[in-house]
Amino acid sequence: MPVGTQATVKGLSQRDLADDLGVSILLANTYHLYLRPGHESIRRMGGLHRFMSWPNAILTDSGGFQVFSLSGLRKITEQGVVFQSHLNGDLHTFTPESTVDVQLAYGSDILMVLDECPEYPVSHEYARESMHRTVRWAGRAHKYYKSRIEASLTRHALFPIVQGSMFPDLRRECAAALVELEAEGYAIGGLSVGEPRPLSLEMVDATEDLLPRQKPRYAMGVGMPAELPEYVARGVDMMDCVLPSRNARNGYLFTSEGRLIIKHARYKEDEGPVDEKCQCYTCRSYSRAYLRHLFLAGEMLYAVLATRHNLRRYLDIMGEIRHAIISETFPEYLRSVRSACADAG
Ligand SMILES: [Zn+2]
Repeated sequence: MPVGTQATVKGLSQRDLADDLGVSILLANTYHLYLRPGHESIRRMGGLHRFMSWPNAILTDSGGFQVFSLSGLRKITEQGVVFQSHLNGDLHTFTPESTVDVQLAYGSDILMVLDECPEYPVSHEYARESMHRTVRWAGRAHKYYKSRIEASLTRHALFPIVQGSMFPDLRRECAAALVELEAEGYAIGGLSVGEPRPLSLEMVDATEDLLPRQKPRYAMGVGMPAELPEYVARGVDMMDCVLPSRNARNGYLFTSEGRLIIKHARYKEDEGPVDEKCQCYTCRSYSRAYLRHLFLAGEMLYAVLATRHNLRRYLDIMGEIRHAIISETFPEYLRSVRSACADAG
């Protein structure tokens, strides 16, 4: 899932995403859209799909991650979390129930329960206390959600989020408790918070045999291109990440040969495309030299073309993975990705 924080994937139009790149689902951030323009405003505008003119599915996070990472001041109670807007300092409250309301006002296809995402590292004691609260919040959100959608004409899903910091025992306890809710899918949160990368994979591994295989599993906020098959190998079906779009804007392009830093002088008169193997509009039409020039000149077209390429690369990787699974060659595919990684150092 590409990330459209402010109901836009920076640099691309909805037509680019849906028609050109074939994106079938994107992520929007509850926290940001709640603060601006506001969920009631979006509801009055016909919901997020109509507001942003997006024809496909939308997943919204619960806002928890942003409250814990962006908000200067916050206070967690059993009821929920009181936080200060990073825009103007106003105080707001998110509860497990209110974030369901906010996401239903958006008309999200997949909603997330409010969770606490502890920073890294934390003590086992704190992680345990926090995880238990996250489980209680998930129970409340689930119950409230069921009552809200009973009479709904539209279909939605609410995913609880497995937490437990970097402690496998807590991760397992959390997953076992959440499975009781019989939700439509399960998310694994609290990853990419500064922990070493092998640890993120270990935390996904910890709950692989507990989370139902027939339901989607979503690893939140991951990963680098070479990590995508690693998550899939551990039973993950869905991922979201700002890396392809954010790195594109910063001049880092992902290619089938590894990372390419477009500002390097060696590309000054390089007439080749970013990636010989890529079929995206950027690679079909423009040279590395032209992209480097746009980047150095600070031209907005650079971000548009670079984002389009990086997202294509991520979607191509997911396409390769799906193809490998269907043709029963995924283990070989995984081995080839690992050995390419080792060669690249
Ligand atoms: Zn390309």
